[in-house]
Amino acid sequence: MPFNDHYVIIGNGPAGNHAAITLRKKDKEARITIISDECVPYYYKPKLTDFIADEIPKEDLMVDFLDSYKAKDIRIRLGQEVERIDMESKTLFLQHMENINYSKLIIASGSRARVLPPMFCYANHLKFVTSYTDVMEIKEEIKKANDFFIFGGDLVGFKFLRLLNSMGKTVTILIYPNAFWPYNLTDDMLTQITESLSKFNADIIVKDDIQSIDRQNGSYTVKTRKGIEKIVDMVFSFNGLRPNVDFAKRSGIDMDHGILVNEYLKTNVDSIYACGSCAQIYNPTIKSYTTSIGWPNAVVQGEVAAFNLLGDHKIIESVGRKYFDLEGVKIKTTWWEEIEKDTDE
Ligand SMILES: Cc1cc2nc3c(=O)[nH]c(=O)nc-3n(C[C@H](O)[C@H](O)[C@H](O)COP(=O)(O)OP(=O)(O)OC[C@H]3O[C@@H](n4cnc5c(N)ncnc54)[C@H](O)[C@@H]3O)c2cc1C
Repeated sequence: MPFNDHYVIIGNGPAGNHAAITLRKKDKEARITIISDECVPYYYKPKLTDFIADEIPKEDLMVDFLDSYKAKDIRIRLGQEVERIDMESKTLFLQHMENINYSKLIIASGSRARVLPPMFCYANHLKFVTSYTDVMEIKEEIKKANDFFIFGGDLVGFKFLRLLNSMGKTVTILIYPNAFWPYNLTDDMLTQITESLSKFNADIIVKDDIQSIDRQNGSYTVKTRKGIEKIVDMVFSFNGLRPNVDFAKRSGIDMDHGILVNEYLKTNVDSIYACGSCAQIYNPTIKSYTTSIGWPNAVVQGEVAAFNLLGDHKIIESVGRKYFDLEGVKIKTTWWEEIEKDTDE
C-alpha cells in the first residue's frame, strides 16, 4: 500500500483552515487533518460580539466550510486538545491519550486572553471574550447582568464596550495603556480615546490601577488604587492576546512568547511550520521578530505556510501597518480589518 503524507494542522481558525485548503489544492493525495480543542467548526471570531447580543444566529457565526471539507477529504477533529509534540517520532499527544503521527505539521493554535500582572490574583473573577467557548459560558449571564467593569480596553474590549452600551448596560472601564500589546498607547492617544469614548454611557478611568476585586453575594466590589469603588455584576479583562503555545514547550521548537519562525514561516525544525497569531515571524529588514494579529494576516500566513511546507519559498510580506478607526481615533495596527466573508476558493 503506498505511503501517503499526513499533514496535520493544530488550530481551526483562519490560519489553520486556509493552510488546509491550500495543502489540498496542491496535494490531492495526502491525508490532511485539522485538530481543534474547541467543539465548534470554523467560526468568525470577529462576529462573537454580535452573537452575544443575538444580532446574528449561530449559523451566521459559522464559516461555511464543513461541506466542502467532506468533498476535499479534509478531516476535522473537534474537541481534541494537543498536549505535547514529540519531534523525534513526529507524534502529537492528545489530552484524551490518543497519539497522532504526522509527516509534516503546521501549528496554527492562535492566542488566548493575556492577563496583566496586577490582575493575576484576581484571574478567577475575570471573564474574557476570546472564543466561542468563552462566549457560550457567559452569554446568558451577560444578558441578565446590569453593571460591568472592564479592565484594559484593547480593540476587542472597545467592541465589547460598544455592545454593552447598545444593550443598555452600565459600564466602567479602566483603560491600561499597554492593553494594546504589543503597542503602548501614548498619553496623547489616551487623551484622544478618552474623549472619543465619552459619547458612550460609560465611566472612563485612566492612569489608575486595580486595588482589589472581592466577590460577595453574587456581585463584585472593584476598588482602584485612587479610591474609586464600584459594585458590579461581571468583571472583564481585555488586555490583548498571548499565543497558545504551552503544548510546544520543551518539544525542541524554538520559542519566545510565540513560536519563532523565519520569513518562510518555518520553525527551527524542517517539518514544522507555524502561522497566525501563535507565531513570531522574523523580519530580516528590522532583524527582529514581530507578532502577528488580525484575521487577514492569519489567512495569508496559513496559505504561505502550506505552500512552503510543500517545497515553495514564499516570503511572508513584512507585516503591513495600517490605521484602524477606533471610535474616531486612529490606532496603528497590523492588518486588523472588518471581516465580511471568508471563502475556501
Ligand atoms: C472577539 C474578537 C473579535 C475580533 N475582531 C477582529 C476584527 O474585527 N478584525 C480582525 O482582523 N481581527 C479580529 N479579531 C482577531 C482575529 O480573530 C484573530 O487575529 C484570528 O482569529 C487569529 O487567527 P488564528 O488562526 O491565528 O488563531 P485562532 O483564530 O485563535 O484559532 C486558533 C485555533 O487553535 C485551537 N487550539 C489552540 N490550542 C490548541 C491545542 N493545544 N490543541 C488543539 N487546538 C488548539 C483553538 O481552539 C482555535 O481553534 C478578533 C478576535 C476576537 C477574540
